Amino acid sequence: MAGEPQDDCLFCKIVAGHVPATIVRETDTTVAFRDINPQAPTHVLVIPKAHYTDAATLAAAAPDLAADVLRETQAVADEDKLESYRIVFNTGTGAGQTVFHAHAHVVGGRGLQWPPG
Ligand code: C5P
Repeated sequence: MAGEPQDDCLFCKIVAGHVPATIVRETDTTVAFRDINPQAPTHVLVIPKAHYTDAATLAAAAPDLAADVLRETQAVADEDKLESYRIVFNTGTGAGQTVFHAHAHVVGGRGLQWPPG
């Protein structure tokens, strides 16, 4: 069923507390934690607690939850006092998605290049 936890999903395990993570924020519907391999001084992942494979699937199936995730990216940026930052949803292997549980990367705290690699 859409949104149900998946046994083989790393981020579902973080939500359940079965895999450790440095959690910076938690709401009823979302968790935000520091990326284990940070690409910038601030690199936080915001995920819905419910399982959706990517941002597009999340937005189509549960738009209110997608809005919760976006709202939390702003809260993370506020908490780390970021004036500028980037929100990235890698979608599909060709774009670098490696974990198939929707997540927003919040990246900031240094100058960022455009276009991205
Ligand atoms: O967009 P992508 O799917 O590649 O992002 C997954 C992210 O999850 C990576 O940046 C990786 O460093 C991070 N990760 C993590 N904690 C884990 C495993 C992966 O923060 N235990």
